[in-house]
Amino acid sequence: MIETKAAIFREPRAPLSVETIAIAEPGDNDVLVEIKAAGLCHTDLSIIDGAWPWETNSILGHEGAGIVVACGPAVKRFEPGDHVLLFSGPRCGRCGFCASGRTNYCVDTAANMGPVPSNFIVDGRRATALLGLGTFAGHVSVDAELLVKLPQALAFDIACFIACGGATGLGAILKAARVEAGATVAVFGLGGVGLNAVQGARLAGASQIIAVDTNPAKEEVARSIGATHFLRAAPGVDIAAQIAGITGVGVDYAFECVGSTAVIAQALASTSLAWGKVVIVGVAPAGDTLDLDPMLLVMGRQISGTYIGGMTHSDLPQIADWLVDDTISFDALITHRLPLEAINTGFDLMRNGQSIRTVVTFD
Ligand code: NAD
Ligand code: ZN
Ligand code: ZN
Repeated sequence: MIETKAAIFREPRAPLSVETIAIAEPGDNDVLVEIKAAGLCHTDLSIIDGAWPWETNSILGHEGAGIVVACGPAVKRFEPGDHVLLFSGPRCGRCGFCASGRTNYCVDTAANMGPVPSNFIVDGRRATALLGLGTFAGHVSVDAELLVKLPQALAFDIACFIACGGATGLGAILKAARVEAGATVAVFGLGGVGLNAVQGARLAGASQIIAVDTNPAKEEVARSIGATHFLRAAPGVDIAAQIAGITGVGVDYAFECVGSTAVIAQALASTSLAWGKVVIVGVAPAGDTLDLDPMLLVMGRQISGTYIGGMTHSDLPQIADWLVDDTISFDALITHRLPLEAINTGFDLMRNGQSIRTVVTFD
């Protein structure tokens, strides 16, 4: 057993508690990773704020990068010293979903979303780790299937953001929707996820990229990474009408990156009624439901969702390479770096709209 520092989710609507915990010896297929950087995603905040129910006395965090310290005897793909990304898209390789080649969903995805005990030991018991990872800790021990090798040239505090915000935003555009060159795109919500969708739309060659947020401070960064228009959402403002004014017939694709059923409705109304595609990326509070007039879809509009942008482990090295060769950049998106002890300040910054991505660093 080794000891490490971790931010423990003790109860909803309370700060995480930074404490020393133990980690069980790696099992046969496990890899012990020293975490160097972990990003704060809104999904973590939704759990902390009680919008999503989750086991207490658990470790949150699902964006992380670090160095392999030790491997279980059955691990062949990694060795101590490797730089790795922790990624919450399991691939059992055997279930009907994995075998289909059509999805990043695996039966183990559902398992990782539930209260499965991890190698963390909190209060003498195996604790749950968010999405099977739990990156708000100095070390984690996870199944080798949840790791992706990183180029040594990529800094950890940049790399960690690939695992959720980067993969989700870029994947929503490039993999889930497969936005084509010349298409028109609207992105609702310009956080870590939405701004990567903007960046993905630029990469895809979209002709108009309309970025929408309630926070006017997001305009500058959105334009700097590819947005051609910025619209400020506010109560009573008809964003769909403004988008129709820009595009004529509505956008080809709209991405909801907020986590609000009201915004999903706006996104739907903003698309072309004949061929528009809405991709729900945000995670709305548990229990919220969509009130959808089927007539909105009759002419051909489509609505769907995506989990981590449809990305699998094999897609992630490409994102890492794009970061190394400057095809994409997270520089303007990672606005704060804090030590683990200040992790609650990072969540305050997110709640108050003062940050884009905060990364906790461990040295
Ligand atoms: P974030 O808090 O960094 O960003 C959210 C943004 O939405 C902010 O800029 C905020 O100002 C803006 N916003 C709030 N209300 C708005 C409104 N009415 N109209 C337009 N913009 C509005 O969050 P994030 O980390 O980027 O995550 C975004 C969402 O994506 C969350 O719901 C998160 O849980 C979800 N998520 C989903 C997946 C997935 O696999 N589907 C993965 C990661 C995150
Ligand atoms: Zn996330
Ligand atoms: Zn599977």
